[in-house]
Parts: sequence; C-alpha cells; structure tokens
Amino acid sequence: MKLGIDPAAIHALAAWFRDHGRPYHFRRHPTPYSVWILEVMSQQTQIARAEERHRRWLERFPDIRTLAAAGEEEVLREWEGLGYYSRARNIHRAACQVMDAGGEMPTTRDGLLSLPGIGAYTAASIASIVHGEPVAAVDANVRRVLRRVFAAPDLADGRIETLLAGAFEHEPAGVINEALMELGEQLCRKTRPRCLECPLAEGCLACRSGRTELERQKPGSGRTRLSIAVACLRCRGRYLVEEAPQGELWAGLWRFPCRIIGQEEDPEAVVRQLGAERGLRLGSLQPLGGKYTGGHTRYSIHLLPYCGSARRALRAGGAGDWIDPREDGGRTFPTLFRRLLEALPVKDRKD
Ligand code: SF4
Repeated sequence: MKLGIDPAAIHALAAWFRDHGRPYHFRRHPTPYSVWILEVMSQQTQIARAEERHRRWLERFPDIRTLAAAGEEEVLREWEGLGYYSRARNIHRAACQVMDAGGEMPTTRDGLLSLPGIGAYTAASIASIVHGEPVAAVDANVRRVLRRVFAAPDLADGRIETLLAGAFEHEPAGVINEALMELGEQLCRKTRPRCLECPLAEGCLACRSGRTELERQKPGSGRTRLSIAVACLRCRGRYLVEEAPQGELWAGLWRFPCRIIGQEEDPEAVVRQLGAERGLRLGSLQPLGGKYTGGHTRYSIHLLPYCGSARRALRAGGAGDWIDPREDGGRTFPTLFRRLLEALPVKDRKD
C-alpha cells in the first residue's frame, strides 16, 4: 500500500477521521475567516487551547469587518499569551487589506497567499477545508506521518504535496488534510506512536519495520538560550514599564527595563545599571522568587528579575510609564512579563 496510490488507505484514513476527529466547535461551520484565525493560533499553541482562544477571539472580533475596524493595540491585547505578536499584526493588516478590496477573502490558495502573514500551510488549509481546492496543507504533523508511512526521513514538502494530490482524487482534500493533522496529534505522535490503532498501519513502512523514530532532525533546530536581567523598579507603589522599540525582542509590547546578559555578568549589577541609565537611584535589590523561563521562536528565554525601590533622582519621567501592577492600563505584555507582573509585591504608596 502506498498512500498516494492505494485508495483503500485514503478511504480508511477519512473514515477514521469521521469517527475519531475531535468535535471542535470550529469544525461545525468552517468559514474562511474562522479557519484562518484557527490555523494561525494552532501554530502557536496546542489545539485544545487554540480552540478556547479561537472561541474568545470570535466573540471579540466576529468577522473581518470588526477586526479591521479595531485598533492594533486592541488586537495585540486579544492575542496576549499566544506569543509571536507579528502574527497578530499580520492578521490585522490582512483584515484591513481584505476590507480595502471589498470585504471578501480570496477563495484560492494562490489568492490567499497575497495576504500578509498567510503562508503556504494556512492558505492551503483555508482553500481545501472551506472551498474544497485539492491542495495539501503540510504542517509538522502531516510531515511526520508521511515520512513514517514512506520510511523516508528526508521526504520533502514538494514530494508530500504530490503524493497527497493523488489522495485527493479519492476523498475531499479538506478531509484528508484535517485527518492527517489529527492523526499526527492523536496517534502518530513524536514519541511512542499508537500504531495498533492507526488506519494507515497496514502499509506504513516505519511501523512494519519497527523504526518509527526515523524522523529527520532539523539542523540548527535547537534554540539559543538567552538570560535576561530584568529591573522591576518601584516608586510610590508603581513599577516602571517601557515599550520595547522596533528591532528588539517583543517590539511594540510592554516590558520592564531589561537587558540580555552574558554568562559572566552579574544580573544585579546590570539591573543597577539599567536604573542608572534611566536617572534612578536604587535602594537594595532582591531577586524575585519563581522561575521565569519560556520559549520564543528562536530563543529559550530565562528572566532574572530583581525588585527594588527607586527614586527619580536625575530626571523625572523618561520613556516609560509607572504603573500599578494590578492595573496595566490595557497594555500588552509578553507572556513571561505578564507572569512577572502578576508575581510582583504590591507595596503601599510610600514605598
Ligand atoms: S502506523 Fe504508526 S508510524 Fe505509521 S502512520 Fe500510523 S501511527 Fe504513524
């Protein structure tokens, strides 16, 4: 059996999906807009969490018109916690572009690719699931399944698309694309795939040879570790936050003054320097308890926060704002900094 050739395998896969596909709300009435938002969100987080955020997003921005009419800050705010904020900015830009062009999203993969932030995978998902276009949506799950089925760790996306084009002659492209994604999540997982339950097991070369670990490792897939000293500086019960400038990590979002540090650098000394650069005189500093680590697209990030009181000795104001951690004033913070904000001690206004 070969997936691209044997119709029986394709029908078995589609039947498995109809029986075992999870009843997510977005599957009930897929629209180009809802599939688009869901696909971008599911690139950021697990599908169950994406479903919850997707539901919330549609309540806030039920259609493209509402989304385009919203301000970017509002859109970023709704995206908070999902990370990779350029994706939210692109969604907003694309919605504005669609409204400028009359309010209808393109219906083909190629047309969808003309919108900012919509790449090959998202365009193919929308075009196949909503419009039935026979195009393959290749994500990490689909890639893993196909590479195992053909025992080919280097199977390229172009070859996968060709193989799936054959499959789409036997079952709708949207069904097969979603079925493969779901199979990759439920059964053909990275570790310990559940081959006994898999509809493709009979012809799967990796399963038959017992070598399901043969996935190719991407060169350079390890993320660079970054340690960042963070100054949580308090004055009269308020903390200094700043908007990250363009070209820096988290551009356009809010965070505490911070700096990437080298292995040899003392984070407390860096925090003192950050305060001095802002014209602040600092009292004693304390490391903030807790672990603040997380991922970015290219980095594994480790925050080293220090808290302390500050006096505005040299100049008042500066580029940032002093905020009460319980009232962020609608600012959008990266997830790690949001956690930090919530962990800060709230002192009275004399401090
Ligand atoms: S048989 Fe096993 S390895 Fe092959 S596609 Fe199914 S779950 Fe993956």
